[in-house]
This record gives sequence, C-alpha cells and structure tokens, in this order.
Amino acid sequence: MSRPTTVTRRVLLPSLLLSALVGLLAVLAQLAWIVADERRAAKEQLELVRESTVPSLEEALWGINTPQIEAILQGLVENPAVARVVLTDEEGRRRVLGDARQGVLETGRFPLRYRKAGDLPLGELEVSLGNAVLRGRLERRALGTLLVLVLALGVSAVAGAWLFRQRVGRPLAAVTRRIERFSVRSQEPADDAPLRPHAANDEIGRLETALQTMRAQVSRDVREIERLRDEIAAHAATLEAQVRERTAELEQRNRELEEQRRAIEALANTDALTGALSRRHFLELAGRERARAAREGGGLAVLLLDIDHFKRVNDTHGHAGGDAVLRAFHATCAAQLRAHDLLGRLGGEEFGVVLPATGREVARQVAERLRAAVAAGPVTLPGGAAVAITVSIGLAFTASAAEDIDSLLAAADAALYRAKREGRNRVVEAG
Ligand code: GH3
Ligand code: MG
Ligand code: MG
Repeated sequence: MSRPTTVTRRVLLPSLLLSALVGLLAVLAQLAWIVADERRAAKEQLELVRESTVPSLEEALWGINTPQIEAILQGLVENPAVARVVLTDEEGRRRVLGDARQGVLETGRFPLRYRKAGDLPLGELEVSLGNAVLRGRLERRALGTLLVLVLALGVSAVAGAWLFRQRVGRPLAAVTRRIERFSVRSQEPADDAPLRPHAANDEIGRLETALQTMRAQVSRDVREIERLRDEIAAHAATLEAQVRERTAELEQRNRELEEQRRAIEALANTDALTGALSRRHFLELAGRERARAAREGGGLAVLLLDIDHFKRVNDTHGHAGGDAVLRAFHATCAAQLRAHDLLGRLGGEEFGVVLPATGREVARQVAERLRAAVAAGPVTLPGGAAVAITVSIGLAFTASAAEDIDSLLAAADAALYRAKREGRNRVVEAG
C-alpha cells in the first residue's frame, strides 16, 4: 500500500499549481495588452513628430540650412521617447543621432520632399522610439500584478485547503476511525452520537448515517447467524444422541434376533426328544457328505437302524418309558460313533447314521458294534425297571461317485427290511 496521505494535501497542491498557471496567464495577457497599448501610443507619437518636424526639416533641407537641420535633429533626439534619429539625403549620406542599443519600440520612416517646387525628393527621416518607457511600465505593472496575484491565489488556495480540511478531511477521518473501531464482538455500547450535528444532512452526514445503519444491520445479522448456529448445533447434538440411542437399540435387537435365529435353527436341526440330528438336518448333512465323498474320493456308508418291537416297550412301560428308551438308545449309539459321523432320528424309533471316509469293512464293524452295544445293556427306566432292546440295521456302502444319497438310503432301507425279516437283531448289507 502506498504511503498514507490526506485529501487536503491532494487538493492543495494541484489547486496551488492551477492558481499559479491561471495567474501567469493573467499576467501574460496583461503584459500583451500593455505592449499593444504602448505600440498604439508610439504610432500616435510618431504621427505627431511627423506633423511637427517634417515640414520645417524639408524647408531647412531645401535651403541647405545646416545649423537649422542640426537644431531640428537635436531637438528630436532630446525627446526622451526618441532613441535614435537617422537622416538620409538623396546622395545616401546618413546623419545618425542617438542609438538604438536599448531596444526600439516603433520606427517611423518619413520620405522628405520639397512640395512647393515640383515635389522633389530630398531624402528620408527615420525616427525610432525607444522602449525604455515601455520597459519601465511593464516592470512596474507586471511585478505588481504578479505579486498581488501570487498573494491572492496563495492565500485563497491555503484558505480553501484549510476549509476543505475542516469540512471534508477531518469529518471523513472521524468517520473512518469509527468504522475502524467498529467490532461486532465489542461489549461496549456503540457511540452513535452524530460527529457533526450541524451538518448531518450533507454527503458526509449521510455517509455517517448510512454507516450507522449498516453497522446496526451487520450486528443484527451476526447475532442472528450466531443464534441459528447454536440452534443447529443443539439440534445436531440431539439428533446424534437419538441416533446413538436408536443404534444401540437396534444392535441389541439384532443380537436378540441372532440368538433367536440360532435357537430356532438349533431347534430345527435337533431332535427335541433325543438330541440327535433332526430328519431334515440329517438328510441335508448326508447330502453334503455324499457330495464331498464324490469330490475327494473314498467310501461312504449309510446305516438305517430300527428298534425291534418297540411297540411292546410302549405297551409295557408306557409312552414315557418308550421316550426314556429312545433317549438311552441314542446315547448308546452316539458313544460308539466318531465326532464327524452323523446320527439323526428319521422318525419314531428309526435312526440313520452316515460314516464319511469309511471303507466297507470298517462300516460293517461299526454297524456290528452298534448292534452289540444296544443288545448288551438293558435300559434302566426312572421307575427302576430294566428294558432290554435290540436293533436291526441295514447297511449300504458305495465307493462310486455316481450313486446319490437317496438311492443309498433306499438301499439301506431295503437291507433293514431284510434284517427284520431274517429275525431282527442283526446287520444286513445291501446288495
Ligand atoms: P418292528 O420294527 O420290529 O417291526 O416292530 P415295531 O413295534 O418297532 O414296529 P412299528 O414301527 O410298527 O412300531 C413303532 C412304534 O413306535 C409305533 C409308535 O407308537 C412308537 N413310537 C413312534 N414314535 C414314538 C415316540 O416318539 N415315543 C414313543 N414312546 N413311542 C413312539
Ligand atoms: Mg419302525
Ligand atoms: Mg421297530
């Protein structure tokens, strides 16, 4: 930014220069007028000289009256306005009186003739008026005028600048200071008293009023913006709290739903009475095992187990007794199987077993072990009664990827049917 200055200073210098220029032009105009005036006066004076001198000089020249000629020329040159007189006769001889070194204002050349006798030419008189008078007049007038002008213009410029500073510069500076001091955050009440109560209606007064209005408006707007900002912040905080609360609720609900889903799934996958796999889940897992065996190779064995004469158990020990026997039967079978073997209750007193990655011989051994374990231990009911049961088992084995789980189950079922027919409490292999 450039150096700070004042409007007054910027007005004063050009106005002084302008004044000086106008003054100079005025002085020059006056001088030109004086020169023109002096020229006109000089012409008149030369005319007078011609009228008063030329006839007597012509007379003296005609009579070759040398003393008289000299006296006339001397008389002429003694006139303070005349600087030089030159008389030239017909033969070209010149008589020069005075000199023109101080400068010549106007020169008159008068032909000399003897008019009484045939208008004979006698020569020429040249009278030069000096400019000493003009110079004096110019010097006096020009100096005086210049002095007065410089004084008047200088004084009026300074006075104008002073007035300008009082009326414009200072009020503007005061208004500027007010704007600079203005702060929306200020705790002090704003000083709104008019700076120039006597001139409130001029441009600066109106500027001041407009600035006050603007300041009030800005303060109002800022307060309104701050109020809105606080309101929005409060609203956002409330919303955030609500969102957090709702998120926690939803998370809790999700956890509950997931627990419920797991419980339902477990219920659906597990037989409620025995804890064996449900029929649906058993068939699903059996299907997967079949697919895996087909993929990886290796044998897969399916066993169908049906308790012999179970109706009698129910008939003898009641339905609850039958249930207890079913639970005990499941526990006995589970104890004989590996963790990854599948044991499901397919309905009533019929169970299924899948032995993954098992060879035919091992499958036979497992089936026989199951049969023997069931036959070996009578089940003791809560009432104390011992119930001896046996089981018939149909075994189907495949090492081929072509056979699906349904045909395996059907083969095992057919084998089971044969086991029942052949006397029960035995293992029969399909095929
Ligand atoms: P077998 O298989 O040797 O030919 O004779 P069985 O008496 O076992 O034959 P069947 O399949 O006709 O009888 C099965 C019985 O099992 C019939 C039914 O009352 C009983 N039963 C089925 N489900 C349950 C159950 O969940 N609990 C009890 N206590 N009994 C059941
Ligand atoms: Mg049955
Ligand atoms: Mg049965």
